[in-house]
Amino acid sequence: MPAKTSKRQPARELLFGNLWEYDPAPETASPQLQSRYQLFIDGKFTAPKTKKYFPSISPRNEETLAEIALAGAADVDAAYAAAAKAFPAWSKLPGAERGKYLYRIARLLQDRAREFAVAETLDGGKPIKESRDFDVPMAAAHFFYHAGWADKLNSVTPGKTLAPLGVVGQIIPWNFPLLMLAWKLAPALACGNTLVLKPAETTSITCMKFATLLLEAGLPPGVVNFVTGAGETGAAVVNHPTAKKIAFTGSTAVGKSIQHALAGTDKKLTLELGGKAANIVFEDAAIDQAVEGIINGIFFNQGHVCCAGSRLLVQESIADRVLAKIKIRLRSLRVGDPLDKNTDIGAINSQKQLEKIRELVDAGVNEGAELYQPACSIPSKGFYYPPSIFSGVTLSQHIAREEIFGPVLSILTFRTPEEAIEKANNTAFGLSAGVWTDKGSLILKMSTELKAGVVWANTYNKFDPTSPFGGFKESGFGREGGKQGLLEYAQLI
Ligand code: ADP
Repeated sequence: MPAKTSKRQPARELLFGNLWEYDPAPETASPQLQSRYQLFIDGKFTAPKTKKYFPSISPRNEETLAEIALAGAADVDAAYAAAAKAFPAWSKLPGAERGKYLYRIARLLQDRAREFAVAETLDGGKPIKESRDFDVPMAAAHFFYHAGWADKLNSVTPGKTLAPLGVVGQIIPWNFPLLMLAWKLAPALACGNTLVLKPAETTSITCMKFATLLLEAGLPPGVVNFVTGAGETGAAVVNHPTAKKIAFTGSTAVGKSIQHALAGTDKKLTLELGGKAANIVFEDAAIDQAVEGIINGIFFNQGHVCCAGSRLLVQESIADRVLAKIKIRLRSLRVGDPLDKNTDIGAINSQKQLEKIRELVDAGVNEGAELYQPACSIPSKGFYYPPSIFSGVTLSQHIAREEIFGPVLSILTFRTPEEAIEKANNTAFGLSAGVWTDKGSLILKMSTELKAGVVWANTYNKFDPTSPFGGFKESGFGREGGKQGLLEYAQLI
């Protein structure tokens, strides 16, 4: 007999709220960590000349995971010397041969995918389901994609010859450590460059583990060199005379300082910096799908995403409905141990970042926006922050202008497409945007008029190695991914 529908059925709100209980689902694969990581120079693990090491702390529980070598100027020098020595042979290798190394690296990463995912989650704090299902497979996909380009470079510019730039210096941030490494390494290697890369100081471990893959793949010594350390090491990478190009992903402030440092030199530069994306929802959108897109747009990777949909622009006629649905959905998000397979929002990457988020949220409250945070239990140790939304936000408030880089959404309203465009573009950044509507013509209009490198329509945070990614205005310049990204590592001769 079919069950009768009770009139006193719990409200949808309760069904999806805190009452939903999950058993713990801890990830148990070993990340195969070492207690100490050296530098990777000229195909060897090398102790730093500084003799100094710094701890890599797990944001999950504040435990020290490993000691990381601190590279000084002399170490960076050695890394560049190794890359320069390796360049002639690597750049002359037929593209098909370089491609074989890239295929091999991609396959080796797939073989050790779970181990890398666990290491990434422990070191950076992101939920295991994201490192397992997004970061690691995407990193492998970038190597596969660029492996395919290595022997087809001449078809990119028919009738002309493409040559590598030489030795390149690369600096990456902590939000997608392994994926950003793949974005940097794969196109540079496919084009025949050799390189020196520095990971972020809070997330060096998967980079150093990656060095073991390179050895396993038999990559010639010196083609890839890793130096670890903080800003000072980064500055040494940027300013080294051997570098023909610097590729940087990180904060707008550091990006600007690199631009200053390189002014007047002949080094090429690409910068992928901050963002404050507008995720724009029109009244004719499929609301439930849009709400999922809003949630994914801001809470993916704790909001540590330069293209995060951190400003929701919602059409006034549906604003109350959308806000109510977001609040319900927020209550179902599971915050906590990133190593638990159920976790939606893991740990904030560092104490420093947690403080920055708190500061900006306080500014939002003090400036009069309305804060909503669902009740959620947060582990007592580690760096955690609840999913948060601000409604009643105006464009002049800090939370509407500054990149929070955390799980905090600012909600603004608009009446017409023109007002949405005006508000969306009223920012110093221009990395990404989202548009939710049933009308194709409106999507075309918005994507043409929004000053953003990527515009997603009826989806958000979709990535593919074939698709170029990069910004306008203070979000930087240059593209990564696709043919455009490849060409950033080559010159016509
Ligand atoms: P965040 O403030 O979000 O940590 P950063 O821009 O400081 O972002 O960090 C991104 C990367 O830039 C990291 O690898 C970091 O070590 C590096 N970095 C920081 N300062 C400098 C600098 N002055 N020159 C070069 N790289 C730097």
